[in-house]
Amino acid sequence: MKIQHIFFDLDNTIWDHRKNAYLTIKDLFEKEEISLKYTIDFEEFHSVYHEINESLWEKIRDGIIDKEYLRKHRFYDTFSHFNVDDEKLSMYFEEHFLDRILNHNELVEGAAYILEYLKAKNYTLHIISNGFKEVTERKCILSGIDKYFQTITSADTVGVRKPRPEIFEYSLSLSDATKENSILIGDDWIADVVGAQNFGMDVIFFDVLNENKEEEGLKVIKHLLQIKDYL
Ligand SMILES: [Mg+2]
Repeated sequence: MKIQHIFFDLDNTIWDHRKNAYLTIKDLFEKEEISLKYTIDFEEFHSVYHEINESLWEKIRDGIIDKEYLRKHRFYDTFSHFNVDDEKLSMYFEEHFLDRILNHNELVEGAAYILEYLKAKNYTLHIISNGFKEVTERKCILSGIDKYFQTITSADTVGVRKPRPEIFEYSLSLSDATKENSILIGDDWIADVVGAQNFGMDVIFFDVLNENKEEEGLKVIKHLLQIKDYL
């Protein structure tokens, strides 16, 4: 059956969360004069933060911790790594991080082009995101891409996250999409690729971090423009 519905993951597939988070933390870091007060280099701070944050998100995805835990720990653990034990400062970063990240709306390279390309080819486009419900739609609106999507599904609305099949089921039920006429495009191996495969829909792995997964028949792209090879 011909593909009609394309479901995109949002963070780091379309909306460049990594870049926008980097810019936001840099703003806060400079405003609070952290380099000066604690002699911490920003690039080092950011790379420690990045690793801690990714690992906490994996634990959320696997149901080991909740998002309250993540919010309490991602900056606290980062500052602790540099021997700064300061809950107040960490929570200041956390609160303002969420406030301010939406001031930055960089898209992943090629995203604007590929959305326009797919729309011109009459595909129906959707979002399925594991991100915080309260920010998913704003990210789409503020970056000007909301007009491309017929439906936007956030994990919090459904009460389960990718890779659980219920979220795919829910998202497909919002339109006339079926497993057979749909495909998912995402950058997370477990949430997106394994999730879609177990649910029974086709998937393209956006291997932006060069994980180089090997699997027979796997559709892989390294750059969004390579979607044109498949759709
Ligand atoms: Mg993602």
